[in-house]
Amino acid sequence: MATFSPDALFAAELASDGAKPISREAACRLLQADDEMLPSLLAAAQVARATFKTGVITYSRKVFLPLTNLCRDYCGYCTFRRDPGQPGAHTMTPDEVMEVVRAGERMGCTEALFSLGDKPELLFPQMRDTLRRFGYKSTLHYLEAMCEKVLRESSLLPHPNPGLMSAEWLERLSRVAPSMGLMLETTSTRLLAKNAAHDNAPDKDPAKRLRVIEDAGRQKIPFTTGILIGIGETPEERVDALLAIRDLHARYGHIQEVIVQNFRAKSGTPMAHCPEPGRGEMLRTLAVARLLMPKMNIQAPPNLSDPHYADLLDGGINDWGGVSPLTPDFINPEMPWPHLDQLRQRTEAKRFELRQRLPVYPEFAEQAAAHSDLLAQRLSAAADAEGYARRAA
Ligand code: SF4
Repeated sequence: MATFSPDALFAAELASDGAKPISREAACRLLQADDEMLPSLLAAAQVARATFKTGVITYSRKVFLPLTNLCRDYCGYCTFRRDPGQPGAHTMTPDEVMEVVRAGERMGCTEALFSLGDKPELLFPQMRDTLRRFGYKSTLHYLEAMCEKVLRESSLLPHPNPGLMSAEWLERLSRVAPSMGLMLETTSTRLLAKNAAHDNAPDKDPAKRLRVIEDAGRQKIPFTTGILIGIGETPEERVDALLAIRDLHARYGHIQEVIVQNFRAKSGTPMAHCPEPGRGEMLRTLAVARLLMPKMNIQAPPNLSDPHYADLLDGGINDWGGVSPLTPDFINPEMPWPHLDQLRQRTEAKRFELRQRLPVYPEFAEQAAAHSDLLAQRLSAAADAEGYARRAA
């Protein structure tokens, strides 16, 4: 990336009171700022965070449920997905789901994160057979049933990430999950080209993903999305992805958090030898995200920036995302989550208070509860008076 030194225009934008979002032009330039500029960029992001957020940094204590790792897409960076018959290919049974959920309950978890490949039954007859054996027509029918089972039979709240969904499926899942997610990742259609990150990944078409996020907005579903940085996008494309998220939130008010996730090169994938974004690039991106959307919840996963993850707080985040005391990160299995005591110590060392939230953020709980009586009931049992996790440790 080219670098630049601060000039009067951008120095003036950074010196604002933190309440007014910076312009696209400033964001693009700041993303390419040199190291000399980094401290003032981070300071500006911290002012913006302090303008709208209290000194609380949240996380969600979760269990990770890889409902199926069969997927019809072939993203260039993914080690999660499998074809049927490959070592490690697996679809969890209902009993396996509930076993993990019960263990999570005993450890104070409040989120059941369902992560799964996108519509594997469209490509693989083996998945159709598995679903038939379980008694379901599609992966989404199975997911819906498992979310409802978790909601009815445990104190955990489901948060499904099933990939693309129709408006009808968003509505169905919104009755059994207080929030759900779909990473936008990028708005760059260039990355769908031959040998790019999303070559052979039809579900990563940005237009389709934006449509899902917009449909969720129309239905007032608390929604998690975000960007994946370092997969071949330009600085301008990275800013445009953040702006697309911000614009959808401005129209519908449903984006509960924006994740900034850094690409990690994993052996055995087509992108194993691609450069990873460094610490400076991650911090610049976080700071720019905060300055573009000062009021929003911004999250960065700590395990993808270990051992220096506490530095991410300097970029203006206010959430660590889901952290599990029990299950590995099946998407990044080689990068374990930090121990919760260590997360607390490092967060407090930066003078913040760490609090356990539910999968749905406190300010979105009412919106979630409006989708079904069952959800309203379970949410009121799980939340404390401020909307954080009642069993917060
Ligand atoms: S990142 Fe998601 S959509 Fe892409 S291959 Fe992996 S599981 Fe499938």
